[in-house]
Amino acid sequence: ERERYRERTPNSAEMAGDLRELVPAGVCSTFRAFEPHPMHAERAEGTSIHDVDGTEYLDFALNNGTQLVGHTHPELSEAAIEQIGEGTLYTRPSRLIEYAAEPLIERWDAIDQVRFTNSGTESVMHATRLARAYTGREKIIRMEGAYHGAHDPALVSSMPPLEKAGAATDPNAVKESQGIPDGVPEDILLAHYNDADSVERLLREHATEVAAILVEPACLNLGLVEPENGFLQRLRELADEYNVVLLFDEVKTGVKLAPGGGAEYYGVQPDLVALAKAIGGGYPVGAFGGRRELMELIEADLREGVATGMAHYGTYNGNPLALRAVGVTLREILDSAAYDHVTRLAERLAEGYRDVIEDAGLDAQVKTAGSQGIIHFTDEPIRTFRDWEHVDETLHEAYWVGMVNRGVVPHPHDASQQWTLSVQHTAEEVDDHVAAFADVADGIAA
Ligand code: PMP
Repeated sequence: ERERYRERTPNSAEMAGDLRELVPAGVCSTFRAFEPHPMHAERAEGTSIHDVDGTEYLDFALNNGTQLVGHTHPELSEAAIEQIGEGTLYTRPSRLIEYAAEPLIERWDAIDQVRFTNSGTESVMHATRLARAYTGREKIIRMEGAYHGAHDPALVSSMPPLEKAGAATDPNAVKESQGIPDGVPEDILLAHYNDADSVERLLREHATEVAAILVEPACLNLGLVEPENGFLQRLRELADEYNVVLLFDEVKTGVKLAPGGGAEYYGVQPDLVALAKAIGGGYPVGAFGGRRELMELIEADLREGVATGMAHYGTYNGNPLALRAVGVTLREILDSAAYDHVTRLAERLAEGYRDVIEDAGLDAQVKTAGSQGIIHFTDEPIRTFRDWEHVDETLHEAYWVGMVNRGVVPHPHDASQQWTLSVQHTAEEVDDHVAAFADVADGIAA
Protein backbone atom coordinates (compact mmCIF):
# COMPACT_ATOMS: atom_id res chain seq x y z
CA GLU A 1 0.00 0.00 0.00
CA ARG A 2 2.87 2.31 0.84
CA GLU A 3 4.40 1.81 -2.62
CA ARG A 4 1.05 2.52 -4.21
CA TYR A 5 0.73 5.67 -2.11
CA ARG A 6 4.11 6.86 -3.42
CA GLU A 7 3.05 6.21 -7.00
CA ARG A 8 -0.18 8.13 -6.55
CA THR A 9 1.41 11.19 -4.92
CA PRO A 10 4.51 12.31 -6.89
CA ASN A 11 3.67 16.02 -6.66
CA SER A 12 3.20 15.75 -2.90
CA ALA A 13 6.60 14.07 -2.68
CA GLU A 14 8.24 16.89 -4.60
CA MET A 15 6.48 19.58 -2.62
CA ALA A 16 7.44 17.88 0.66
CA GLY A 17 11.09 18.12 -0.38
CA ASP A 18 10.73 21.81 -1.26
CA LEU A 19 8.83 22.72 1.90
CA ARG A 20 11.32 20.96 4.16
CA GLU A 21 13.79 23.64 3.10
CA LEU A 22 11.45 26.38 4.29
CA VAL A 23 9.74 25.02 7.39
CA PRO A 24 10.97 22.24 9.70
CA ALA A 25 9.69 18.84 8.54
CA GLY A 26 7.80 20.66 5.77
CA VAL A 27 4.76 21.15 8.00
CA CYS A 28 3.40 23.84 10.32
CA SER A 29 2.30 21.48 13.11
CA THR A 30 4.57 18.50 13.67
CA PHE A 31 1.63 16.10 13.99
CA ARG A 32 1.09 16.55 10.23
CA ALA A 33 4.42 14.99 9.27
CA PHE A 34 3.92 11.55 7.70
CA GLU A 35 6.24 9.01 6.11
CA PRO A 36 7.02 8.90 3.24
CA HIS A 37 5.34 12.33 2.89
CA PRO A 38 1.95 13.80 3.71
CA MET A 39 -0.62 14.18 0.97
CA HIS A 40 -0.45 17.92 0.18
CA ALA A 41 -3.73 19.78 -0.15
CA GLU A 42 -4.75 21.83 -3.16
CA ARG A 43 -8.23 22.77 -1.98
CA ALA A 44 -11.23 21.48 -0.05
CA GLU A 45 -14.97 21.78 -0.54
CA GLY A 46 -18.05 20.10 0.93
CA THR A 47 -16.96 16.60 1.92
CA SER A 48 -13.93 16.51 -0.38
CA ILE A 49 -10.29 17.36 -0.16
CA HIS A 50 -8.21 17.56 -3.36
CA ASP A 51 -4.48 16.93 -3.39
CA VAL A 52 -1.75 18.47 -5.55
CA ASP A 53 -1.72 15.34 -7.73
CA GLY A 54 -5.28 16.00 -8.88
CA THR A 55 -6.94 13.31 -6.73
CA GLU A 56 -10.20 14.00 -4.96
CA TYR A 57 -10.68 12.27 -1.60
CA LEU A 58 -13.80 11.74 0.45
CA ASP A 59 -12.83 13.42 3.70
CA PHE A 60 -13.81 12.04 7.11
CA ALA A 61 -10.76 13.54 8.86
CA LEU A 62 -12.15 17.05 8.51
CA ASN A 63 -9.16 18.80 10.01
CA ASN A 64 -8.86 16.85 13.24
CA GLY A 65 -12.62 16.75 13.46
CA THR A 66 -13.00 20.49 13.44
CA GLN A 67 -15.50 20.64 10.62
CA LEU A 68 -18.73 19.15 11.81
CA VAL A 69 -20.16 21.57 9.24
CA GLY A 70 -17.97 20.12 6.45
CA HIS A 71 -15.71 22.24 4.25
CA THR A 72 -16.84 25.55 2.72
CA HIS A 73 -20.37 25.36 4.12
CA PRO A 74 -22.25 27.89 1.94
CA GLU A 75 -23.91 29.74 4.83
CA LEU A 76 -20.65 30.03 6.71
CA SER A 77 -18.61 31.05 3.67
CA GLU A 78 -21.15 33.69 2.71
CA ALA A 79 -21.14 35.17 6.22
CA ALA A 80 -17.34 35.13 6.35
CA ILE A 81 -17.03 36.92 3.01
CA GLU A 82 -19.53 39.51 4.17
CA GLN A 83 -17.59 39.93 7.41
CA ILE A 84 -14.29 40.39 5.55
CA GLY A 85 -15.96 43.34 3.83
CA GLU A 86 -16.92 44.77 7.23
CA GLY A 87 -13.50 44.27 8.82
CA THR A 88 -11.69 41.26 10.22
CA LEU A 89 -10.26 42.87 13.35
CA TYR A 90 -11.64 45.60 15.61
CA THR A 91 -9.84 45.00 18.94
CA ARG A 92 -12.89 46.53 20.57
CA PRO A 93 -16.22 45.05 21.60
CA SER A 94 -19.04 44.73 19.10
CA ARG A 95 -22.50 43.17 18.83
CA LEU A 96 -20.84 40.03 17.48
CA ILE A 97 -19.79 39.06 21.01
CA GLU A 98 -23.43 38.54 21.93
CA TYR A 99 -24.02 36.69 18.65
CA ALA A 100 -21.27 34.18 19.46
CA ALA A 101 -21.44 33.99 23.27
CA GLU A 102 -25.18 33.38 23.70
CA PRO A 103 -25.33 30.00 21.98
CA LEU A 104 -22.43 28.70 24.07
CA ILE A 105 -24.04 29.90 27.29
CA GLU A 106 -27.31 28.31 26.21
CA ARG A 107 -25.71 24.97 25.37
CA TRP A 108 -23.76 24.46 28.62
CA ASP A 109 -25.49 24.70 32.00
CA ALA A 110 -22.01 25.20 33.48
CA ILE A 111 -21.27 28.28 31.39
CA ASP A 112 -22.58 31.54 32.84
CA GLN A 113 -19.92 33.62 31.13
CA VAL A 114 -17.42 32.98 28.39
CA ARG A 115 -14.22 34.51 26.98
CA PHE A 116 -12.96 33.89 23.43
CA THR A 117 -9.47 32.70 22.48
CA ASN A 118 -7.86 31.60 19.23
CA SER A 119 -7.16 27.91 19.80
CA GLY A 120 -7.74 24.95 22.04
CA THR A 121 -4.31 25.38 23.55
CA GLU A 122 -5.12 28.91 24.65
CA SER A 123 -8.51 27.85 26.01
CA VAL A 124 -7.05 25.08 28.18
CA MET A 125 -4.14 27.29 29.26
CA HIS A 126 -6.39 30.13 30.40
CA ALA A 127 -8.98 27.87 32.00
CA THR A 128 -6.18 26.21 33.96
CA ARG A 129 -4.88 29.58 35.09
CA LEU A 130 -8.39 30.51 36.18
CA ALA A 131 -8.74 27.32 38.23
CA ARG A 132 -5.43 28.10 39.92
CA ALA A 133 -6.39 31.73 40.53
CA TYR A 134 -9.70 30.67 42.04
CA THR A 135 -8.33 28.03 44.38
CA GLY A 136 -4.96 29.61 45.12
CA ARG A 137 -3.41 26.18 44.47
CA GLU A 138 -1.11 24.98 41.73
CA LYS A 139 -1.33 21.27 41.04
CA ILE A 140 -3.48 19.87 38.26
CA ILE A 141 -4.73 16.30 38.15
CA ARG A 142 -4.73 15.04 34.57
CA MET A 143 -5.23 11.72 32.83
CA GLU A 144 -2.21 10.00 31.34
CA GLY A 145 -2.49 9.75 27.55
CA ALA A 146 -4.83 12.72 27.13
CA TYR A 147 -3.90 15.62 24.83
CA HIS A 148 -4.72 19.10 26.08
CA GLY A 149 -2.73 21.35 23.73
CA ALA A 150 0.79 22.41 22.85
CA HIS A 151 1.71 24.60 25.84
CA ASP A 152 4.38 23.42 28.30
CA PRO A 153 2.28 21.59 30.92
CA ALA A 154 0.09 19.98 28.28
CA LEU A 155 3.12 18.33 26.71
CA VAL A 156 3.68 16.16 29.75
CA SER A 157 2.54 12.54 29.40
CA SER A 158 0.00 13.24 26.68
CA MET A 159 1.24 10.09 24.93
CA PRO A 160 4.37 8.96 26.79
CA PRO A 161 6.46 6.05 25.51
CA LEU A 162 5.35 3.13 27.68
CA GLU A 163 8.93 2.32 28.63
CA LYS A 164 9.21 5.77 30.25
CA ALA A 165 5.73 5.91 31.75
CA GLY A 166 6.59 4.03 34.95
CA ALA A 167 4.30 1.81 36.99
CA ALA A 168 0.58 2.27 36.45
CA THR A 169 0.18 2.74 40.20
CA ASP A 170 2.70 5.62 40.16
CA PRO A 171 3.03 7.00 36.62
CA ASN A 172 5.94 9.26 35.69
CA ALA A 173 5.23 12.77 34.44
CA VAL A 174 7.16 12.52 31.16
CA LYS A 175 8.23 15.70 29.34
CA GLU A 176 7.49 15.38 25.61
CA SER A 177 9.69 18.18 24.35
CA GLN A 178 13.03 19.70 25.03
CA GLY A 179 12.69 23.26 26.31
CA ILE A 180 10.06 22.51 28.93
CA PRO A 181 11.40 23.63 32.33
CA ASP A 182 11.97 20.89 34.91
CA GLY A 183 9.51 22.54 37.29
CA VAL A 184 6.58 22.02 34.92
CA PRO A 185 5.93 18.29 35.52
CA GLU A 186 6.07 18.88 39.28
CA ASP A 187 2.65 20.51 39.17
CA ILE A 188 1.07 17.70 37.21
CA LEU A 189 -0.45 14.74 39.01
CA LEU A 190 -1.21 11.86 36.68
CA ALA A 191 -4.26 9.70 37.10
CA HIS A 192 -5.88 7.21 34.72
CA TYR A 193 -8.94 7.73 32.59
CA ASN A 194 -11.85 5.54 33.77
CA ASP A 195 -10.17 5.04 37.14
CA ALA A 196 -11.74 7.42 39.64
CA ASP A 197 -9.87 5.69 42.45
CA SER A 198 -6.58 6.88 40.96
CA VAL A 199 -7.93 10.44 41.11
CA GLU A 200 -9.17 10.02 44.66
CA ARG A 201 -5.78 8.70 45.79
CA LEU A 202 -4.07 11.84 44.43
CA LEU A 203 -6.65 14.11 46.05
CA ARG A 204 -6.19 12.42 49.39
CA GLU A 205 -2.42 12.70 49.16
CA HIS A 206 -2.37 16.31 47.93
CA ALA A 207 -5.61 17.59 49.43
CA THR A 208 -4.52 21.19 49.90
CA GLU A 209 -2.44 21.54 46.72
CA VAL A 210 -4.81 20.60 43.89
CA ALA A 211 -6.46 23.35 41.85
CA ALA A 212 -8.30 21.30 39.25
CA ILE A 213 -9.14 17.97 37.75
CA LEU A 214 -8.63 18.43 34.01
CA VAL A 215 -10.34 15.79 31.88
CA GLU A 216 -11.89 15.25 28.47
CA PRO A 217 -15.45 13.94 28.89
CA ALA A 218 -14.49 11.24 26.35
CA CYS A 219 -10.80 10.64 25.80
CA LEU A 220 -10.22 11.44 22.14
CA ASN A 221 -6.46 11.02 22.15
CA LEU A 222 -6.95 7.27 22.46
CA GLY A 223 -9.25 6.98 19.47
CA LEU A 224 -12.50 7.11 21.39
CA VAL A 225 -12.59 6.07 25.04
CA GLU A 226 -15.88 6.75 26.73
CA PRO A 227 -16.34 7.18 30.48
CA GLU A 228 -17.50 3.97 32.14
CA ASN A 229 -19.12 3.12 35.46
CA GLY A 230 -19.98 6.69 36.36
CA PHE A 231 -16.39 7.90 35.98
CA LEU A 232 -17.38 11.53 35.30
CA GLN A 233 -20.02 11.48 38.05
CA ARG A 234 -17.36 10.30 40.51
CA LEU A 235 -15.05 13.12 39.37
CA ARG A 236 -17.85 15.62 39.97
CA GLU A 237 -18.36 14.25 43.49
CA LEU A 238 -14.63 14.24 44.23
CA ALA A 239 -14.22 17.80 42.96
CA ASP A 240 -17.02 18.90 45.32
CA GLU A 241 -15.68 16.91 48.24
CA TYR A 242 -12.13 18.29 47.91
CA ASN A 243 -13.14 21.77 46.74
CA VAL A 244 -11.26 21.59 43.48
CA VAL A 245 -12.35 22.85 40.07
CA LEU A 246 -13.68 20.30 37.58
CA LEU A 247 -12.38 21.46 34.21
CA PHE A 248 -13.67 19.74 31.08
CA ASP A 249 -11.50 19.99 28.00
CA GLU A 250 -14.25 19.96 25.38
CA VAL A 251 -12.02 21.11 22.52
CA LYS A 252 -12.93 17.94 20.63
CA THR A 253 -16.15 16.84 22.32
CA GLY A 254 -17.76 20.30 22.50
CA VAL A 255 -20.75 20.71 20.18
CA LYS A 256 -19.87 17.33 18.66
CA LEU A 257 -21.01 14.62 21.05
CA ALA A 258 -24.18 16.65 21.59
CA PRO A 259 -25.19 20.31 21.21
CA GLY A 260 -23.86 20.88 24.74
CA GLY A 261 -20.83 18.62 24.30
CA GLY A 262 -19.74 15.85 26.62
CA ALA A 263 -21.31 17.62 29.60
CA GLU A 264 -24.75 17.16 28.05
CA TYR A 265 -24.00 13.77 26.47
CA TYR A 266 -22.87 12.21 29.75
CA GLY A 267 -25.01 14.35 32.05
CA VAL A 268 -22.24 15.83 34.19
CA GLN A 269 -21.63 19.56 34.45
CA PRO A 270 -18.11 20.80 35.19
CA ASP A 271 -17.14 24.17 36.71
CA LEU A 272 -15.12 25.27 33.70
CA VAL A 273 -15.15 24.31 30.03
CA ALA A 274 -12.42 24.75 27.40
CA LEU A 275 -13.64 24.88 23.80
CA ALA A 276 -12.29 25.33 20.28
CA LYS A 277 -12.41 23.43 16.98
CA ALA A 278 -16.00 22.65 15.93
CA ILE A 279 -17.51 25.74 17.57
CA GLY A 280 -15.99 27.81 14.76
CA GLY A 281 -16.71 25.52 11.82
CA GLY A 282 -13.09 25.65 10.62
CA TYR A 283 -12.20 29.22 11.55
CA PRO A 284 -9.47 29.64 14.17
CA VAL A 285 -11.26 30.25 17.44
CA GLY A 286 -11.51 28.94 20.97
CA ALA A 287 -13.36 29.85 24.14
CA PHE A 288 -13.41 29.07 27.82
CA GLY A 289 -16.30 29.60 30.13
CA GLY A 290 -17.81 28.55 33.38
CA ARG A 291 -19.56 29.44 36.55
CA ARG A 292 -19.85 33.14 37.28
CA GLU A 293 -17.94 33.02 40.55
CA LEU A 294 -14.90 31.76 38.64
CA MET A 295 -15.24 33.94 35.55
CA GLU A 296 -15.66 36.97 37.81
CA LEU A 297 -11.96 36.76 38.61
CA ILE A 298 -11.23 38.02 35.10
CA GLU A 299 -13.12 41.22 35.83
CA ALA A 300 -11.47 41.42 39.25
CA ASP A 301 -8.16 41.77 37.42
CA LEU A 302 -9.46 45.02 36.02
CA ARG A 303 -10.81 46.37 39.34
CA GLU A 304 -8.28 45.11 41.82
CA GLY A 305 -5.30 43.99 39.76
CA VAL A 306 -3.29 40.86 40.11
CA ALA A 307 -3.90 40.59 43.83
CA THR A 308 -7.24 38.91 43.17
CA GLY A 309 -7.69 38.83 39.42
CA MET A 310 -6.86 36.50 36.55
CA ALA A 311 -5.26 37.96 33.44
CA HIS A 312 -6.64 37.20 30.00
CA TYR A 313 -5.38 39.18 27.00
CA GLY A 314 -4.99 38.70 23.26
CA THR A 315 -5.00 40.86 20.14
CA TYR A 316 -7.08 38.38 18.16
CA ASN A 317 -9.39 37.31 21.00
CA GLY A 318 -12.99 37.62 19.84
CA ASN A 319 -12.06 38.94 16.43
CA PRO A 320 -15.13 39.62 14.30
CA LEU A 321 -14.42 36.90 11.72
CA ALA A 322 -14.13 34.23 14.40
CA LEU A 323 -17.20 35.47 16.28
CA ARG A 324 -19.22 35.53 13.09
CA ALA A 325 -18.12 31.96 12.36
CA VAL A 326 -19.13 30.76 15.84
CA GLY A 327 -22.51 32.48 15.66
CA VAL A 328 -23.39 31.16 12.20
CA THR A 329 -22.15 27.66 13.00
CA LEU A 330 -24.08 27.33 16.24
CA ARG A 331 -27.21 29.33 15.42
CA GLU A 332 -27.75 28.60 11.73
CA ILE A 333 -26.12 25.27 10.92
CA LEU A 334 -25.88 22.97 13.95
CA ASP A 335 -29.58 22.60 14.73
CA SER A 336 -31.25 19.46 16.04
CA ALA A 337 -31.76 18.10 12.50
CA ALA A 338 -28.01 18.45 11.95
CA TYR A 339 -27.28 16.38 15.07
CA ASP A 340 -29.80 13.70 14.02
CA HIS A 341 -28.13 13.57 10.61
CA VAL A 342 -24.53 13.19 11.78
CA THR A 343 -25.44 10.68 14.51
CA ARG A 344 -27.42 8.54 12.07
CA LEU A 345 -24.54 8.56 9.59
CA ALA A 346 -21.97 7.79 12.29
CA GLU A 347 -24.04 4.76 13.33
CA ARG A 348 -24.42 3.67 9.71
CA LEU A 349 -20.65 3.89 9.24
CA ALA A 350 -19.94 1.94 12.44
CA GLU A 351 -22.43 -0.78 11.47
CA GLY A 352 -20.84 -1.00 8.04
CA TYR A 353 -17.39 -1.39 9.60
CA ARG A 354 -18.60 -4.05 12.04
CA ASP A 355 -20.11 -6.11 9.22
CA VAL A 356 -16.88 -5.92 7.24
CA ILE A 357 -14.79 -6.86 10.30
CA GLU A 358 -16.97 -9.91 10.88
CA ASP A 359 -16.94 -10.99 7.24
CA ALA A 360 -13.16 -10.59 6.96
CA GLY A 361 -12.55 -12.17 10.37
CA LEU A 362 -10.37 -9.31 11.64
CA ASP A 363 -9.36 -8.77 15.28
CA ALA A 364 -10.69 -5.24 15.42
CA GLN A 365 -13.32 -3.18 17.22
CA VAL A 366 -15.37 -0.15 16.29
CA LYS A 367 -16.71 2.50 18.62
CA THR A 368 -18.99 5.41 17.91
CA ALA A 369 -20.41 8.35 19.90
CA GLY A 370 -22.23 11.35 18.49
CA SER A 371 -20.65 12.33 15.16
CA GLN A 372 -17.39 10.49 15.81
CA GLY A 373 -16.02 6.98 15.69
CA ILE A 374 -12.94 4.81 15.33
CA ILE A 375 -11.61 1.38 14.45
CA HIS A 376 -8.94 -0.22 16.61
CA PHE A 377 -7.07 -3.30 15.54
CA THR A 378 -7.33 -5.25 18.78
CA ASP A 379 -9.85 -7.43 20.62
CA GLU A 380 -8.80 -6.09 24.01
CA PRO A 381 -10.89 -3.36 25.64
CA ILE A 382 -9.25 0.10 25.55
CA ARG A 383 -10.28 1.96 28.70
CA THR A 384 -7.09 3.75 29.75
CA PHE A 385 -3.79 4.79 28.18
CA ARG A 386 -2.19 1.64 29.59
CA ASP A 387 -4.42 -0.45 27.32
CA TRP A 388 -2.97 1.33 24.30
CA GLU A 389 -0.19 -1.25 23.96
CA HIS A 390 -2.81 -3.68 22.62
CA VAL A 391 -3.56 -1.51 19.58
CA ASP A 392 -1.77 -2.76 16.49
CA GLU A 393 -0.50 0.56 15.16
CA THR A 394 1.34 -1.03 12.21
CA LEU A 395 -1.88 -2.62 11.00
CA HIS A 396 -3.67 0.64 11.62
CA GLU A 397 -1.26 2.49 9.39
CA ALA A 398 -1.63 -0.13 6.66
CA TYR A 399 -5.40 0.36 6.91
CA TRP A 400 -5.09 4.14 6.79
CA VAL A 401 -2.80 4.21 3.76
CA GLY A 402 -4.98 1.59 2.07
CA MET A 403 -8.04 3.77 2.55
CA VAL A 404 -6.26 6.84 1.18
CA ASN A 405 -5.17 4.82 -1.85
CA ARG A 406 -8.86 4.11 -2.44
CA GLY A 407 -9.82 7.77 -2.27
CA VAL A 408 -11.07 7.95 1.32
CA VAL A 409 -9.35 9.80 4.16
CA PRO A 410 -10.97 7.93 7.07
CA HIS A 411 -9.55 10.14 9.84
CA PRO A 412 -6.30 11.99 10.65
CA HIS A 413 -3.45 9.56 10.00
CA ASP A 414 -2.81 8.31 13.53
CA ALA A 415 -4.58 5.50 15.41
CA SER A 416 -5.11 7.95 18.27
CA GLN A 417 -7.55 9.94 16.10
CA GLN A 418 -11.17 9.47 15.03
CA TRP A 419 -13.49 10.05 12.11
CA THR A 420 -16.14 12.76 11.96
CA LEU A 421 -19.40 12.76 10.06
CA SER A 422 -20.41 16.21 8.92
CA VAL A 423 -23.75 17.80 8.12
CA GLN A 424 -22.74 17.63 4.45
CA HIS A 425 -21.97 13.89 4.29
CA THR A 426 -24.56 11.64 2.67
CA ALA A 427 -25.54 8.01 3.23
CA GLU A 428 -24.05 7.20 -0.20
CA GLU A 429 -20.70 8.63 0.85
CA VAL A 430 -20.80 6.57 4.03
CA ASP A 431 -21.48 3.47 1.94
CA ASP A 432 -18.55 4.35 -0.37
CA HIS A 433 -16.37 4.64 2.74
CA VAL A 434 -17.50 1.19 3.90
CA ALA A 435 -16.93 -0.30 0.43
CA ALA A 436 -13.35 1.01 0.44
CA PHE A 437 -12.87 -0.50 3.89
CA ALA A 438 -14.19 -3.87 2.67
CA ASP A 439 -11.50 -3.85 -0.01
CA VAL A 440 -8.77 -2.86 2.47
CA ALA A 441 -10.01 -5.42 5.01
CA ASP A 442 -9.75 -8.25 2.45
CA GLY A 443 -6.13 -7.23 1.87
CA ILE A 444 -5.40 -7.15 5.61
CA ALA A 445 -7.09 -10.50 6.19
CA ALA A 446 -5.07 -12.01 3.32
N1 PMP B 1 -7.48 19.83 23.80
C1 PMP B 1 -7.85 18.77 23.07
C2 PMP B 1 -8.72 17.72 23.69
C3 PMP B 1 -7.45 18.65 21.75
O1 PMP B 1 -7.81 17.58 21.03
C4 PMP B 1 -6.65 19.68 21.18
C5 PMP B 1 -6.17 19.61 19.74
N2 PMP B 1 -6.26 18.40 19.10
C6 PMP B 1 -6.30 20.76 21.98
C7 PMP B 1 -6.72 20.81 23.28
C8 PMP B 1 -5.46 21.89 21.43
O2 PMP B 1 -6.19 22.59 20.50
P1 PMP B 1 -5.45 23.48 19.39
O3 PMP B 1 -4.78 22.51 18.46
O4 PMP B 1 -6.56 24.25 18.75
O5 PMP B 1 -4.49 24.35 20.10
